[in-house]
Parts: sequence; C-alpha cells; structure tokens
Amino acid sequence: MTGSNQNILSYPIEYLKGVGPQRADLLKKELNIFTFSDLLHHFPYRHIDRTKIFRIVDLNPSIEFAQVQGVLVNFEVIGEKSARRLIANLKDDSGTMELTWFQGISWVQKMLRQGQQYLVFGRMGFFMGKPQMVHPELEVVQAGTAQTKNYLEPVYPTTEKLKARGLGGRPMAKLVQALLPLLSEKDIPENLPDSILHRGQFVSRYAAYQQAHFPSSTEAYEKAVRRLKFEEFFIAQIRLAIVRAKRHRYSKGVVFDKVGDLFNTFYHKHLPFQLTGAQKRVLKEIRSDTLNGHQMNRLLQGDVGSGKTIVALLSMLLAIDNGFQACMMAPTEILAQQHFNSISSLLKDMPIGVHLLTGSTKNGERKYILQCLAEGSLSLIIGTHALIEEVVQFKNLGLAVIDEQHRFGVAQRASLWKKAAVPPHVLVMTATPIPRTLAMTAYGDLDYSIMDELPPGRQPITTVHRYDTYRVSVLEFIKDEIEKGRQAYIIFPLIEESVKLDYESLMQGYEHVKAFFPEPRYWISMVHGRQNPEVKETNMQRFVKGDTQIMVSTTVIEVGVNVPNASVMLIENAEKFGLSQLHQLRGRVGRGAEKSYCILLTSSKLSNEARERIKTMVSTNNGFEIAEKDLELRGPGDIEGTRQSGTLNLRLADLVKDKLILDAAKKWAEQIAEEDPELDAAENLRLKHYLGSLQGKTVWSKIS
Ligand code: ADP
Ligand code: MG
Repeated sequence: MTGSNQNILSYPIEYLKGVGPQRADLLKKELNIFTFSDLLHHFPYRHIDRTKIFRIVDLNPSIEFAQVQGVLVNFEVIGEKSARRLIANLKDDSGTMELTWFQGISWVQKMLRQGQQYLVFGRMGFFMGKPQMVHPELEVVQAGTAQTKNYLEPVYPTTEKLKARGLGGRPMAKLVQALLPLLSEKDIPENLPDSILHRGQFVSRYAAYQQAHFPSSTEAYEKAVRRLKFEEFFIAQIRLAIVRAKRHRYSKGVVFDKVGDLFNTFYHKHLPFQLTGAQKRVLKEIRSDTLNGHQMNRLLQGDVGSGKTIVALLSMLLAIDNGFQACMMAPTEILAQQHFNSISSLLKDMPIGVHLLTGSTKNGERKYILQCLAEGSLSLIIGTHALIEEVVQFKNLGLAVIDEQHRFGVAQRASLWKKAAVPPHVLVMTATPIPRTLAMTAYGDLDYSIMDELPPGRQPITTVHRYDTYRVSVLEFIKDEIEKGRQAYIIFPLIEESVKLDYESLMQGYEHVKAFFPEPRYWISMVHGRQNPEVKETNMQRFVKGDTQIMVSTTVIEVGVNVPNASVMLIENAEKFGLSQLHQLRGRVGRGAEKSYCILLTSSKLSNEARERIKTMVSTNNGFEIAEKDLELRGPGDIEGTRQSGTLNLRLADLVKDKLILDAAKKWAEQIAEEDPELDAAENLRLKHYLGSLQGKTVWSKIS
C-alpha cells in the first residue's frame, strides 16, 4: 500500500465497524490481520453462487450450499430436551425439502407463516435420501417472482476461535463489506505502467481488489485474480531485476582480462577429460562476466554429477592468472576436505599450492594460512565457514566460489564480499536443482547458468521399487554385485523424534546386514551422527579405499561423497525421504564406469504422496524434473533454501499453477529493469513510487 500514515489502509483493524477490541485481538492473533490493508489482502478462498436458485429435485450431496425458493407447507415442534427441534417442509414445483432449527425455536416459530413463499439459503444436508437444511437463512418473497441475490458471496479462510466469535468464513464477508465502500480509487492507486496494463489486458488495481472480494460475475472474478496474481509476481520480480540491472550497469568488478599460463597449461595438459558442452558454455559465461568491469554474481545450477567442481577450478585459475586470489567455500568439513583432495590431485603437476581452512585446522597452520592470505602469497584456498570469519583477510580476493549455497545464509555470503575494496566475483553453485520457477523468483537478482548435461559414458542408474518383504532377495542381489568387486550403500532414515530411537533402529539394521554379510568374508563400515568426526572419517576412508564392501549409514553421507566403485544404493524406508534427498542419495552411485542400481525399499502401506515420490524416482534420473515434481507435491514453502527468501510471499499466485503468468511477469519486469533501472521514465513513475512505499519490507537479498 502507499506509505503515507494518513492512508486509510494503514488504520488499525479495530477502527472498522463491526470489529470491537475483542474481535480485533483475535483477528491479529489468529490471522495476522492488524490493519485495514491486511483485511483487504485476506482474500476469499471461494464464492457461493447466490445468483442461482436450485429446484429441489436437482439437489444432490455434491452441492454444499444452495438457495431454494418455495412455499412453506407446514411446521411443528417435535422431540424432548436436547432432541427438541422445529421442523418445517418447503415445497417447490419439483419436490419437498425439510428445514430444521434446534435453537431459537419459539422465535422462529412465531415468524414462520404457512402458505408463504420463502427464499431459503443454507448448507445442504441429506437425511434418508431427503434434502434438508439446518438453520437456513429465510427471506419472504412475493409469490410467483423468482428473486435471486445477484452476487457471488465470498467465503473467507478463518479459524475455530474466530468462528466462536461470530467470524466464520461467511460472516467475515460483513467486515470486508464494511471496508470496501470506505476505499476510493486513490487509496488503491494503479502501480503498473500503462504499457503493461495494455499488453496483459489487466483490469485496474482498484477494480481488481473490489472484484476479488465481491465479484459481479465469475468472469469478473477471474479477471481480478489474474491481475492480482500478475502483480504479486511482477513486483517480486522487478525488485530483484532492478538489483541485477543496477549491478550490470553500476557495480565495479575486478577485470580478468587474460587467459593465462595456469589456465592454459591445466586445460591443455592436465585436464583428465573433455569438457561437456554445458561446462564449456558456463565457462564462457563466466569469462565474459569477469571481463566487463562489473561484478559477477552468478548462480550455477547443475544436476548431481554434472561436473561443477571442474568449472569452479578453471574459474579460479582464471582469477589467479590475473593476479587475484580465489577461494571456494563448502558447507561442511567433509565436503571441504573432499574438494581439497580432488583439487589437490587435479593440480598435482601444476606450480600452484592449494590450502584448506576449516574449523579443525590446527592453530599453527591456521596462523600461517591467515598470514599468507593477508600478504597475498597464497592464492588458492578451500574451506568452510571458517573462511568468512572476521580474522580472515585477503590481500586481493578476486573470485569466491560457494558450493551448495542453500546451506549458507545471505548474511554469511555478504560477509565474503566485504573482504575486498572492490567486491570479488561470486559464483554460487547449487547441489540439488531447484525448479526453474523457484530459481527465478528467489534468485532473480543473480545471473543464472544451468548445466543440464552429464559427462559422457555414464550409464544411467536403474532405479527400482521393492516392498520390504523382498529384502532378502535384494540383499542377495547386493551379494552378487560384491562378488563382482563392487561396493554398496545401505541407508537408514532418521525418522523418530528421538535420536536414541534412530540410533537403535540403525543398530538393528546393522546387525541384520551383518548377519547376512558375515566377517571375514565381508566387511562393513558404519557412519552415523553420534560418532565423533575422527571415527566417522576412519569408517568413511575404509569404504573409500575398498577395505569394506558395504557402507551402512544414516543420511550423513548425503551430499558430495564420491566412491566411483560403489554400484548399489539401497534405501531402507524410502517412503520416509523427500524427493531431493532421494535424488542426492542416488547420486552417490553411478559415478564410475559400472552399471549402477538404486533400490527403494518401502513398506507396503504407502500414502499417495509417498507413492508419487517413489514413482517419480523410478521414472526419471533428471534432477530438474524431480525438482519440479517436488514443488508440485510440497509447495514452495517446504523446498529447501526458499523459506527465508521472503520474495515468496504469495497470497494468490501459485508457482506451479500460474507458471504462464510468472513467465510474463518475469519477462516484462526484466525488460523494464534493463531499460530503465531507476524507473525515471514518466510511465514508470507510479511503479517507482509504489516500490518506494515498500521500502523496509523484505526484499530477499541485495547481495553486492
Ligand atoms: P557435481 O556437479 O555433482 O559437483 P563433480 O564436479 O563432483 O560433480 O563431478 C562428478 C564426477 O564427474 C567427477 O568424478 C568428475 O571428475 C567427473 N567429470 C566432471 N566433468 C567431466 C567430463 N567433462 N567428462 C568426464 N568426467 C567428468
Ligand atoms: Mg559437487
């Protein structure tokens, strides 16, 4: 709403007719309705069609509310005590129905007139196949004239406590009905530029709010909602697009103007494989981003195993060739260690040192590293959050790569780019694909690259679903794979609230596996959250080296772990896992040349949603498809990394169902932001004014 405090929409809700202090308290507590504006944005979830009068013969159990017109044939009070009720029969030319009252009996009885025409409205019920209404609304009408209410009556989301205070889903409409006439067009001014109103054929903002609550027709309602949904997407998009467009225009960034010796030597002599087309494309994007004098802020989304590490490494070499330092930050110690190992081995014949800084780096070494970073004698460092602590100072950080970004908060990232006078270029890599629509909405201020191609020669992983009654034959299958020299993961879920119970069920599982795979013919590693880091590391290493053939684990191995010889991923109680977790776990196999399998073991009782998840896993290996399905099944709020985004504050729009509207909103927002990032053009002024009025409310991240 517009920012001025004089604006009627900022009035406290208790100023509204019909809202006393008690109801106001409840509205605040139960529905977060504090102001007139909040009530205006409390949209009905459906409408009851009061334009229609049903014939009694047409009433059926699928109709929730109905309006009927007929003659009152008779009425009488029957029953005793709590069963005492007033029953009346209403008849139209097609049949008869029953009206019942349990309360206010004598009052209603006095009011009813036999032989009179009534228009009745209420919730439909059926008793012994006969239609009836309990406590209907009644209105006297002239005989022979059909008299409908000519509107769609809104029904609002509400709560039990509010219902008890007379504010159920329908009564709530009275409040909105009291509010709307108080608002004039200047209270809900247009905020979209004319060109967009025209292109989208949108109704005005003022009309949209009126019609979304009290529509004059179904068509008017749909138009109103379409406009409001568009506005939700558009405003979120334009705020991010402006941040991005301004960065493109005004930010200062260090320039990597040459491709130097380190890059070339590594690329031509030590790269162990050909880059995929997707990897090359992303490198080109990064190259051009770091050449134009503006700061790069790029999100790289790649499916599990698409080869993001090598892209990161080549980018870092580019920075170092140009005289800058580069760092790579991972969310956990295990992952930082693993990046350090693989990058060290890739660079083993190169004249460049790699260092690792984590929470467990010993003091002496830490001191040495900090000193070298500050002096600039150390150019490539890998680490965890330890890299962003105050004490870490870089001489000239040119590129920061952040792996698996959703585990880092925005503030944590921001502290990285404060570490240099000119902010370093930033490459954010996500471990698990998130749906495109979500990426657009949550990360609209970043530039966006996608790696949707896996390196060649990978055999697709075969995924199957088995009920746990087949466990023995599944274990037999694993035995065969081990005979061929392969290794297997067996994963147990964290299900219970209690760590102790989880631990016990893991131990039980372990004993069961051990009985099937006895020593000394088979050796088993076990890793779980209760072990201390050294024990974990030792057990992990035994598996990595091939000293053990089976890894029994909870989900601690979820991301990043790389054991190419492992060819089976068995997931126990797979129905307890989310889709992105299952996909990550599956990504632990299929990393070598051998054919790999993922087996999802479940009980035979599955919820519909669990069944959908399993079906999705079996039918595709594509992380992007899986992410879309995940969004569809769970909604955006539950997708990792988006909850804190703040831009997903959607009241009406739906990321899954309203994709087309989102696409248009994004396209038009980007166009305006790139052409006129200050919104100084005459037709953009009202948008500028509106965005100004939102100042101080959350915008997701202004990260440079
Ligand atoms: P992720 O994108 O999941 O981080 P990684 O960077 O760990 O993937 O790469 C997965 C595996 O694929 C590694 O073993 C890596 O060496 C290998 N790899 C990466 N790029 C290629 C390529 N172009 N050709 C063949 N193998 C590749
Ligand atoms: Mg990775």
